[in-house]
Amino acid sequence: MTNQSVIESLVRQAVRGVLQATPAAGVQPPGWVDGKPNLRVSISARHCHLTDEHVEILFGKGAKLEPEKPLYQDGFYAAAQTVMVVGPRRRMLPSVRVLGPTRSHSQVELALTDSISLGIDAPTRHSGDIDGTPGCVLVGPAGTVQLERGVIRAARHVHMNLHDCQYYGVENGDLMKLVVKSPACSVTFDDLLVRADEAAKLEVHIDTDEGNACNLEAAEQVELQKQTDSCKCHG
Ligand SMILES: [Zn+2]
Repeated sequence: MTNQSVIESLVRQAVRGVLQATPAAGVQPPGWVDGKPNLRVSISARHCHLTDEHVEILFGKGAKLEPEKPLYQDGFYAAAQTVMVVGPRRRMLPSVRVLGPTRSHSQVELALTDSISLGIDAPTRHSGDIDGTPGCVLVGPAGTVQLERGVIRAARHVHMNLHDCQYYGVENGDLMKLVVKSPACSVTFDDLLVRADEAAKLEVHIDTDEGNACNLEAAEQVELQKQTDSCKCHG
């Protein structure tokens, strides 16, 4: 590339960045209300993700996930199907919801309390980061699957689009804090990973243990803050 074309490409990128960061008049970015991000905090109860192959083993040849309830993030849904998750010493969780669409790896996401009752020492990981994690047995109406890995305690995170990133001054991979003000049990959660893409709507995902700790249902105020001690530019 010549110098001139490098400069042109940089300018184009910068212009694109501005266009992405500044909503056009009258256009609301995904999830915004009245020209501002509308923070939503959701509790992710224990659930699993399955591959197409595992759906067929568990629910029968040719079976597909049946979308039952759309999730807040467009394109994602709770399926009608559930599986039984079996741990060592035959301890089990009888009915774990499957979330769709299907993925390239099957994965079980539990709260710490779930993993204790199942007898599996599930590490805190971000979705998809399952190397070296424990496995389990999944039981469906048509068959069983031995998962060699994939049982995790899902790490808290926040989905957001690029307009939200601009609003909060963060980027994909940064960490944030979530402040939850609740009567007699306010909690500040550190280390929420920013998961940004163009279409996401601003939504924090915490697990049932975290939601219970701050009595999220009774919360009077929730606020996202940049976690300054994680800022890469200050080491
Ligand atoms: Zn999430």
